[in-house]
Amino acid sequence: MENRYEFEKRFKEQILKCSRCGFCQAVCPVYGATLRPALNARGKMLILKEVMEGKIDLTEDLVESLFQCTTCASCSINCPSGVEVPEILKIARKDLVKEDISHPAFKGMAKVLEQYSNIYGEDEEEDFGKQKGGRAENIFFIGCVGRYREDEATEANLELLDRLGVDYTLIEEACCGGVLEDVGYSINKRLVDYNIKTITETGARTLITGCPYCWRTFKNREEYAPLRDKGIEIVHISQFFSRYEFDVKTDKRVTYHDPCDLGRHSSIYDEPRETLTRITSDFVEMEHHHQNALCCGAGGGVRGAYPKNSIQMARRRLKEAEDTGAEIIITECNSCLHNLSNARLRKQKFRILNTAQFILELMDS
Ligand code: SF4
Ligand code: SF4
Repeated sequence: MENRYEFEKRFKEQILKCSRCGFCQAVCPVYGATLRPALNARGKMLILKEVMEGKIDLTEDLVESLFQCTTCASCSINCPSGVEVPEILKIARKDLVKEDISHPAFKGMAKVLEQYSNIYGEDEEEDFGKQKGGRAENIFFIGCVGRYREDEATEANLELLDRLGVDYTLIEEACCGGVLEDVGYSINKRLVDYNIKTITETGARTLITGCPYCWRTFKNREEYAPLRDKGIEIVHISQFFSRYEFDVKTDKRVTYHDPCDLGRHSSIYDEPRETLTRITSDFVEMEHHHQNALCCGAGGGVRGAYPKNSIQMARRRLKEAEDTGAEIIITECNSCLHNLSNARLRKQKFRILNTAQFILELMDS
């Protein structure tokens, strides 16, 4: 049978390689929250196999299964057959969107980004009281969640950069656009061109991102190759801070949540831990960590599209954090900070911070 869809052309062999072993079920946060087999990686691969066999079509009925995925990559990391589930789903979602089928939240996001330069459709640009667009050695690129939802975490990053005497500037940012690729749409050229032009005009040699997703997008997407071709180094803020010594110590118990975008997708596991373990004498890991860390439930647009399930996924992660007895949970992704903070139960007394907030508190105590 002729391939009807792009996902078949690109991933037919991979989908057929799925042996239905079910190893992915135990690690899928969406399955953990819903207990619905159609929503784990195996279920999604079975559905796509049936589409390839012509038994079912890509219709509205498949939106929930194919769009409800945080793209956490827990399944692909644990898959003995090497099935790259999140990559397959990205293309299957594009096939759905070509048929004008999507989740309303993602349709809305794509529309917003045609008009605005942030995913929330906010008119007012956040003012962190810093220089924007001047010439500097470094740019700190905040990202949408840090600009509009997690401003305290962003203020801490800026304050710590100031105290370290880093020569940096902010810019009038546009969304990096990467998230569109995850939810069935294509990266927006208007935003890309604007960012490349604005970043280049500062003359900066290093682009420090506050968001792991922006890091992935600038580092890997073909559209942003001109930045890399100019020799601009792209580092995540957790990597940047790990280059410094901080004259602070504590014996508070601290644990670290690996964001999927920073960990499994980018292999940045060590640098955030290097900074933390130089500061606290009581650093502990959660039961699942590094490449096996549980997802916070925010990724792949799931926080916006399936908020109840997203919070449930975050609660599962917070339970593991609670079990460590840690006073402080550190994470280095504003989406994780946002979702974990929203999901925290009143009885859970630990605090959820980024590294800069943690260091500043110790500096000022
Ligand atoms: S772990 Fe891989 S091979 Fe096994 S069911 Fe899941 S996707 Fe299929
Ligand atoms: S990427 Fe994560 S959420 Fe999506 S199917 Fe795999 S394990 Fe489940």
